[in-house]
Amino acid sequence: MVLDTATLRVAFAVMALALGLLFYFSAYRHTRSPYSGWWCLALLLFLGGSACFLLNGTPHQWWANTLGNVLLVAGAGSAWAGARSLRTPQYNFWLLGAAPVLAGVAAAVDSPGTNTWAGGAVFLACMSLMIGLTCRELWRLEPGYSRVRIPMAIAAGGVSLFYFARLVVFLIAGPFSPTFMTYFGSAITTLVTMVLLAVVSFSMAGLSTEQQTRALRTVASQDGLTGLLNRATFQDMAAEQLRRLQGIKAAGTVILADLDRFKSINDTHGHAAGDLALQAFADACRATVRSTDLVGRHGGEEFIIFAPGASPYRAETIAAEISRRLAEGSIPDVPTMPTVSYGIAVVPAGTLSLEEPIAVADAALYEAKSQGRNRAVLG
Ligand code: GH3
Ligand code: MG
Ligand code: MG
Repeated sequence: MVLDTATLRVAFAVMALALGLLFYFSAYRHTRSPYSGWWCLALLLFLGGSACFLLNGTPHQWWANTLGNVLLVAGAGSAWAGARSLRTPQYNFWLLGAAPVLAGVAAAVDSPGTNTWAGGAVFLACMSLMIGLTCRELWRLEPGYSRVRIPMAIAAGGVSLFYFARLVVFLIAGPFSPTFMTYFGSAITTLVTMVLLAVVSFSMAGLSTEQQTRALRTVASQDGLTGLLNRATFQDMAAEQLRRLQGIKAAGTVILADLDRFKSINDTHGHAAGDLALQAFADACRATVRSTDLVGRHGGEEFIIFAPGASPYRAETIAAEISRRLAEGSIPDVPTMPTVSYGIAVVPAGTLSLEEPIAVADAALYEAKSQGRNRAVLG
C-alpha cells in the first residue's frame, strides 16, 4: 500500500482543525489558561502549514512552500511557549520569532517555486530544536504536576529525535533517496504527527485545567495587597509545619510585626502611600526570610512570621534585617519610611498550635511599643 501524501495532509489539516475547535471550546474558553491559548495557536499554525503544502506542484508553490515552513516552525514554537507557561511566566520571544523567520528565509532563497524541499535542512533543524525545547520544559515541570507530563515529555522527545534523524538522512542521502522517502518522507511524518497530535491534545486539556486550578489556588491563598499568605492559609501551613517539627522534635520562633505610627502615614500622605508602605514591608520580609519560613498578613498593618528551626537570636536577626531593608526603601512623597516593632516568642518542640506562642509574641510586641517602638522584644 502506498500512502498518498496529499490525502494524508488533508486528513491532518481536518484533524488539526477539529482538535483546535474542540480545544478552544472545551479548554481555552473555559479556563483562559495561557497553556491552552498557546496550544490552540499551535494547532491553528499546524493546520495552516499543512494546508500550504497542498499547493506543492501548483504555480503557488513558491510562496506556499515558504509560508508552510514558517507556519510549522511557528506552531512548534507555540507548543514550546505553552509548555513553558506551565513553569514560568517568562517567554523567550527572541527565539520564538527568530526560528520561523530563519526557516522562511532559508526556503525563500532555495528556489521554492521548483524545489519542494526548499530550505529543508533549516526547517528540519528548527522543528527538532523547538520540539526538543518543548520536551525540556515538560521534563522540568515540578513533580507536583500531573503525571501526564512524563509521557508527554517522552513523546515530544521522540518527535524531536525523529526530526533530527530526518535532518541527518536529509543531509547525507538527500530528500529523494530511498531511505528518506521510506522512513522519513512526508507521508510517514504526517502520519506520525497526526497520531501524536491526538495524544498530546488529549493530555493538554488536563494540564490546562490544572494550570488554571493552580492559579486560582495561589490567588486564594494570598493577601491581595501584599502577596503574603492570608491569615487562613498561614494557619493551615503553620499547622502542617508544626506537625513536621513535632516529628523531628525541633523548636522554632514566631515573630509578630506591627508598623509604628502607621496611622499617621495614612493621615499625612494618604491611604495609597500607606498601601505602598505595606507592600515595601512585605518585600523586605520576602527578601529576608528563608524559603521554609512562613510570612502572613495577620491583619491591617500587623504581620506574622513563623520560622521553623530558628532560635530567638536568629529571630532577632530576621527582625533587624527586615527593618534595615525597609529603611533603605523609598515611597514617592513620603520622606521617611515607617519603623517597625516586633514581638518574638519561642515555639517549643512538640507544640501543635501557634495560639499560645502568638499570645506571648503579642504581649512582647506591646512591650516593644511601650518601650518606645522600633525594636524587637523577646517574650
Ligand atoms: P502603633 O505604632 O501604636 O502601632 O500606631 P499605629 O498608628 O500603627 O496603630 P493603629 O492601630 O492606631 O493604626 C493602624 C492603622 O493601619 C489604621 C488603619 O487605617 C491602617 N491600615 C490598616 N490596614 C490598612 C491598609 O490595608 N492600607 C492602609 N493604607 N492602611 C491600613
Ligand atoms: Mg496595629
Ligand atoms: Mg501600628
